[in-house]
Amino acid sequence: MSESLVVNEIYLSLQGESTFAGLPCVFIRLTACNLRCSYCDTAYAFTEGKRRTLDEIAAEVERAAFNFQPSTSLAPQRLPLVELTGGEPLLQPGSLPLMQRLCDAGFTVLLETSGALDIAPVDARVRRIMDLKCPSSGEAARNRWENLPHLKATDEIKFVIGTVQDYEWAKEQITRHNLGALCPLLLSWVTPLEPHQQDKVLKPVPAGQTPIKRLDLVERIIADALPVRFQLQMHKIVWAPDQRGV
Ligand code: SF4
Repeated sequence: MSESLVVNEIYLSLQGESTFAGLPCVFIRLTACNLRCSYCDTAYAFTEGKRRTLDEIAAEVERAAFNFQPSTSLAPQRLPLVELTGGEPLLQPGSLPLMQRLCDAGFTVLLETSGALDIAPVDARVRRIMDLKCPSSGEAARNRWENLPHLKATDEIKFVIGTVQDYEWAKEQITRHNLGALCPLLLSWVTPLEPHQQDKVLKPVPAGQTPIKRLDLVERIIADALPVRFQLQMHKIVWAPDQRGV
């Protein structure tokens, strides 16, 4: 079934969490994830979705990209940025030929991946934004450290930070693995979930974690002169925290 994929949603929005943050982008949200991070705000994508062929997906991406044209432009133009997200896109084998096809079509393709699966088979033209799961996610044991040697300067590593322990852990990994030499590093402050977003299938935050405020995180980054880019989850500031398709 590698020529089809179970898709949760395809939509046009702003890229929110990478060095591409703030740019308009077509998103392909794929169904299913093998992790259950404590802060996950897309639990609906664990199971909800419809199987679609690669042709159907590519056609919808093209439509969304062509619909986004500068009003001043005379010649037809196409939005150049597409992102595969989830869920976990790499769980579905069809994500590999889809990314290849989108690259062949001239798109800049971003992949948001949890870091728990092998990133080596991904087309070399794709910009992989790979998480390293911090302790408060409840999924730190799932980090696939063998991925690190595969990262290139065009990839990005993202740490989602919710607690003081997350920050200290991220700092330790950056030093231990000299991560700053591999690719850009993102420290993304996680907006706490609203009570109604806390899906019961998510892992609990492990005991002994101390929540960190975003100001505290910024001050620690500066004091430690950490070679990272601080980020906020932009979509949660612009839109309601539980809004879909953004
Ligand atoms: S990797 Fe974690 S945050 Fe991402 S979709 Fe899966 S459970 Fe949610």
